[in-house]
Amino acid sequence: MARNDTTTFPVSFTLTPSTSARVEAHRDEILADPGFGNYFTDHMIEIDWTVDEGWHNAQVKPYGPLSIEPGSAVLHYGQEIFEGLKAYRHADGSVWTFRPDANARRLARSARRLALPELSVTDFIESIRQIVEIDNAWVPSAPETSLYLRPFMIANENFLGVRAAHRAAYYVIASPAGAYFKGGVAPIKIWLTTEYTRAGRGGTGAAKCGGNYAASLVAQADAYDRGCAQVLFLDADTGTKVEELGGMNVFLVKKDGTLVTPRLTGSILEGITRDSIITLARERGHTVEERDITIDEWRDGVASGDITEVFACGTAAVVTPIGQVLSDEFSIGDPTAPAGELTMSLRQELTDIQYGRLPDTHGWMTKLA
Ligand SMILES: *Cc1c(COP(=O)(O)O)cnc(C)c1O
Repeated sequence: MARNDTTTFPVSFTLTPSTSARVEAHRDEILADPGFGNYFTDHMIEIDWTVDEGWHNAQVKPYGPLSIEPGSAVLHYGQEIFEGLKAYRHADGSVWTFRPDANARRLARSARRLALPELSVTDFIESIRQIVEIDNAWVPSAPETSLYLRPFMIANENFLGVRAAHRAAYYVIASPAGAYFKGGVAPIKIWLTTEYTRAGRGGTGAAKCGGNYAASLVAQADAYDRGCAQVLFLDADTGTKVEELGGMNVFLVKKDGTLVTPRLTGSILEGITRDSIITLARERGHTVEERDITIDEWRDGVASGDITEVFACGTAAVVTPIGQVLSDEFSIGDPTAPAGELTMSLRQELTDIQYGRLPDTHGWMTKLA
């Protein structure tokens, strides 16, 4: 079955309910302070793929350890991709997600790049719906909380030869997420690495794969050592152009209201939050430029007052103001300055849409339960 053949799909999921689902009191205790990525719900999704059968064996089953052979390809050659999206509890108790079709298409693009099989948009959305249906009670309802959904795919052939695996598996796990900024949204400091890059021309920068993160962790550790929350990467070719943070895209706001964000070069991850921010800003009449931005332009623009706000964006933290950039040679910005006005109002608009406090005029929201 060709890896891009999405015509065979699981028509129905078999359900094996968990026999060790946590009791309500325990779940409530977790949901009162979930943090991020610490706890998992009672169930998971699995769909298997082989080159002969295509996608098959779609299951909703208890969350638990995977059993994979030590010779499994993912453990040796890193053939793995993932997605991240959230389920939001609305005031009427219903549960929704944001632009899941965009996540589905991105997973398919990542699959193509990593020589993994493509899952159809329909099956992707159905897998999300299935886990939210069975673990609906795990979707928290406090402000700014959500159920973080983590679809992922691994090569799972027990074979050490170096080629695209003939066996793969797709999973979805879910993890309740608390408000990212507990004491209110506060500007972060970021570390500009000049030693490491995350992606090069023709590489996997535009794919959401674990390998990109593995390559970024040493730079992320340097960032933590310097009291910074995130690392900023420059382009691999010239070391002058801003690409993105380890897991978030970045925007500059100019004095005249223009937003500037790095163009998609193939080494930058196409964030769905990035795309949504561009849409919202243009609707408000802002000019949005997608182009090369040098780190010098950023530094000089902040120094001269031409750049008035800087923010990062991604599903997990939504929109995060950047207060200061630190590097070996210089720093940019004032870490004590408050979050920018446009930054905060775009954040508010986006979360208002996601939580159903504003009408969904773009057809971005999908009801799950
Ligand atoms: C997931 C991710 C983003 C943000 O994408 P969203 O779709 O907005 O969540 C940005 N950069 C990298 C490297 C990512 O992996």
